[in-house]
Amino acid sequence: MNAYILSVGDELVLGQTVDTNSAWISAQLSSMGCDILAHKTIGDDQLMIEAAIREATASVELLIISGGIGPTEDDLTRQALGTVLNTPLELNDAWMARLDEFFKARGRKMPETNKIQAMIPRGATMLDNPAGTAAGIRAKIGGCEIFSVPGVPKEMKAMFEAHIRPYVKPLAGGAVILQKKLNTFGLGESWVAEQLGDLMKRGRNPSVGTTVAGGMVSLRLNARFESLERAEHEMQQTEAACQTKLGEMIFSENDTSLADVVADLLKEKRVQVATAESCTGGLLAKMLTDIPGSSSYFKTGFVTYSNQAKYERLGVSMEVINLYGAVSENVVEAMARAALRLAKSHVALSISGIAGPDGGSPAKPVGTVCIGMAFQSPDRIVQAVTRTFNFPGDREMVRDRSAKMALAMLRYHLLDKKMPF
Ligand code: AMP
Ligand code: MG
Repeated sequence: MNAYILSVGDELVLGQTVDTNSAWISAQLSSMGCDILAHKTIGDDQLMIEAAIREATASVELLIISGGIGPTEDDLTRQALGTVLNTPLELNDAWMARLDEFFKARGRKMPETNKIQAMIPRGATMLDNPAGTAAGIRAKIGGCEIFSVPGVPKEMKAMFEAHIRPYVKPLAGGAVILQKKLNTFGLGESWVAEQLGDLMKRGRNPSVGTTVAGGMVSLRLNARFESLERAEHEMQQTEAACQTKLGEMIFSENDTSLADVVADLLKEKRVQVATAESCTGGLLAKMLTDIPGSSSYFKTGFVTYSNQAKYERLGVSMEVINLYGAVSENVVEAMARAALRLAKSHVALSISGIAGPDGGSPAKPVGTVCIGMAFQSPDRIVQAVTRTFNFPGDREMVRDRSAKMALAMLRYHLLDKKMPF
């Protein structure tokens, strides 16, 4: 079964209210095996609503409309439905009685305007609203079943459970849909897509797509089969195929963050870490300590923003700072080595960069970030690695990517693998 979701309301198109109804309805329908072909959002404009109803009923089997059935003049969904159905609106006696009761129970007189909420197009079915005063409307145009429900999310959800889910469930084929996200960091989306090759072919089941958020490229796996057993099996096969292509570049599943993964590795290997941060101002330490139980692996963090602090707190020599600049691999190496020594940790990460918007130069533009890592090798000799990156974006983004890249460096170190970027 395929579906079209229409949201109605000026507040939505004006950007004052975010359309959460469509997302919620989509998630419910697709988990039952429905294909959602379109979302549309329209203001309180009757002609536009009519046009959308015509478009939807000509192309899908199920149209869900939320919003526009309140008692006020700008609520025009029922009028639009009446026009497209080519039938007049009629008073529904049963719902009228309910409205009377509703107002009587509250000791209030029903405003005349509320009467419209008991009006539905002739031939359509009234849908009981267990949570409010607006009755829903169910109608059929051609091969398309239409459900019109209120926009108030609580009422919409109650109506969905009462009327839409019981209608859709037996018709949607009872397909089982499983979803999974596999996360990578530090790689470009097109590069990841290239590695995946045929796995991303359209029409494949399970399907594999990519999304980007917070510097992570994630693979989205969707499996849709007639039974849970089959869906789980196919999902596992596709996941294994993705693993074969990307290996340890996939750092986690679903909502597990890079910091979560690094924290688990630190605990597992009993490694303690310290940080020395300049441009990230403690963000890396925050990410590492956001996780409960972080005291077992996080020793201390130095925030050495000024050159003077780098010298006074970490002992980074002023000559080195003046010679190479505060944003240099020499300086982050000295910062990491000092943090390691002072904190008596097993590993230390350091960050110094130009987060912007000011401070860039042709040689070191905004986004230039040096990251260092010092660690004890098995023979107790201190070693250091340093890298220079150029992160795109604004100040917040540069700082976020810097801290995450430091975590990524630590992760590869803990896995004893070479960084692939
Ligand atoms: P309505 O049924 O059009 O009178 O909508 C009543 C209220 O529900 C609006 O003022 C919004 O606050 C909320 N609302 C309507 N549509 C949506 C939507 N698509 N997503 C989230 N909230 C909505
Ligand atoms: Mg409205």
